[in-house]
Amino acid sequence: MLNLGCHLTSSKGYEYMGRQALQINADTFQFFTRNPRGGKAKEIDHEDVKRFLEIAEANNFVKIVAHAPYTLNPCSAEQKTRDFAYMAMKDDLERMEFTPGNYYNFHPGSHVGQGIEKGIEMISDLLNRILKPEQTTMVLLETMAGKGSEVGSRFEELSAIIDKVELKDKMGVCLDTCHVSDAGYDIIGDPEGVLDEFDRIIGLNRLKAIHVNDSLNPMGAHKDRHACIGEGQIGLEAILTFINNPRLKGLPMILETPQPDLEGYGNEIKMLREMSK
Ligand code: FE
Ligand code: FE
Ligand code: ZN
Repeated sequence: MLNLGCHLTSSKGYEYMGRQALQINADTFQFFTRNPRGGKAKEIDHEDVKRFLEIAEANNFVKIVAHAPYTLNPCSAEQKTRDFAYMAMKDDLERMEFTPGNYYNFHPGSHVGQGIEKGIEMISDLLNRILKPEQTTMVLLETMAGKGSEVGSRFEELSAIIDKVELKDKMGVCLDTCHVSDAGYDIIGDPEGVLDEFDRIIGLNRLKAIHVNDSLNPMGAHKDRHACIGEGQIGLEAILTFINNPRLKGLPMILETPQPDLEGYGNEIKMLREMSK
């Protein structure tokens, strides 16, 4: 069975997200660690976390995915922005340890004209300053669409970042179907080839989570505009084929589609599960 969930709003805490996931027959979910446009994180409520962990355990949830704010950019040209990246990731990872053994996904960054090489160096530097041997959280680099000066739209770039990180066992990758298609990988025509390439360049053992999205734009568009499953250029059939690949078995798969509400995600999950039988 597929391990499916969707992006949820975290403002009402962990237990609430766990209950929402149950309502839509999900066994994982994703949430922002703080306002996606930046700002301070909420204090951890230990009772709330405890109730969530009980729900997750009782219902066989797989790993959940925390998503860093979009404003976190380790390779900004501005010192102030790089300082925020350090502060936010360090603080997020400390809070993640209260829900041990899960995933923290972030957009590697935008080099804003400083060059891919420089960007890769600054991203791995940040990780080397923050990662600790004793942490149980795995940090995931998200595959990017290649919009503007985004780093991480080529598997080679993600591999180069991981290569420069000292604590490599803390590093993984989250593959976003909309982003890889936008980046120019043919997940419609040659899904096995894309996974082969991922394996050759990064290693499939590093693939830890999937963002399941259709794309408003054709392959190679470098736009990053998500569509609901079956309403975009990738299409239902290609998405079903991709997520049911045995090589992805057991990975948390998160919908980040533009659904209006929880019920919309519930319907999307139901459709994907039924059509995967
Ligand atoms: Fe993302
Ligand atoms: Fe994504
Ligand atoms: Zn996106």
